[in-house]
Amino acid sequence: MSANVIDGKKVAKLIREQVSEDIQYWVSHGQRAPKLQAVIVGNNPASHTYVKAKTKACGEVGIESDTLILPDTVSETQVIEAIEKLNHNDEVDGILLQLPLPGHLPSWNIIEAIDYRKDVDGFHPMNMGRLAVGQPSFRPCTPAGIMELFNYYSIATKGKHAVIIGASNIVGKPMTLMISREDGAGKATVTLCHQYTKDLTRHTINADILISAAGTPKLITGPMIKEGAVVIDVGINRVADPDNERGYRLVGDCDFESTQEKANWITPVPGGVGPMTVAMLMKNTLLAAKDAIYQSE
Ligand code: NAD
Repeated sequence: MSANVIDGKKVAKLIREQVSEDIQYWVSHGQRAPKLQAVIVGNNPASHTYVKAKTKACGEVGIESDTLILPDTVSETQVIEAIEKLNHNDEVDGILLQLPLPGHLPSWNIIEAIDYRKDVDGFHPMNMGRLAVGQPSFRPCTPAGIMELFNYYSIATKGKHAVIIGASNIVGKPMTLMISREDGAGKATVTLCHQYTKDLTRHTINADILISAAGTPKLITGPMIKEGAVVIDVGINRVADPDNERGYRLVGDCDFESTQEKANWITPVPGGVGPMTVAMLMKNTLLAAKDAIYQSE
């Protein structure tokens, strides 16, 4: 068998087009364009690359964007002061704090300083808590993008056994909450695995839906998955590649060749989940501008 490849680029493009149309309509009715403000602390090259990709995507859909770059010597108080200014700036709809922060900064204090109504990444405890109890909130972009892929490809999750590898706050935990919700999309039974899980294959082999977000190349291979499984590869890992002009290439957590022989559906890396994350950020920023999630408060 050869798996059906889930085209995240295509679905992300459709979402971005929809966002773009909504913004055109919104602006043509006298509203200002939504604005996303990125904040980067330090000079981690990957953070700068990610933020550039996100602000480029903003430009393409009609979202204004700006990037505040703080030096890596900045104190916690200084970052929080900068965030509070953005919280009070009525022209800023969404605040994106690019992670990871330099080691001396307590990420959670700073994430909590963001006004949860501008937390378009959905990482603020208010949004995570509301997600946990099924209330409207900004949904973290990567798991929300995966739910959109299931929806687009009519991949049923109801009653299925989903095995999630990786229990981070940005992917694994919110994915667990979304895919297991009884009162909405999801309705799956979940096993959440992490670095302390013993005998990973014992779990993966029973997965109707396997979602890997561990950040370990070739963690998942064909013999570890069930025949006909849906395999969602969230991992983005750099592996050395002398034939590539950059000296490396990007791979996921799954060994594509062997998993695609047994899976029914599979996401490639790149071109699978990654583009969906950016598209969902655009969607969340538009919702923030419309105040659509919290307007009832
Ligand atoms: P993280 O480092 O915060 O968490 C990794 C999780 O995986 C932890 O819970 C850890 O216990 C678990 N883990 C690690 N090795 C494991 C193993 N061998 N077996 C079982 N569990 C293991 O990572 P993160 O920020 O959630 O990111 C995970 C991966 O997903 C990275 O490769 C990252 O680049 C990628 N990512 C991709 C997107 C996207 O848009 N495609 C978005 C976010 C993260």
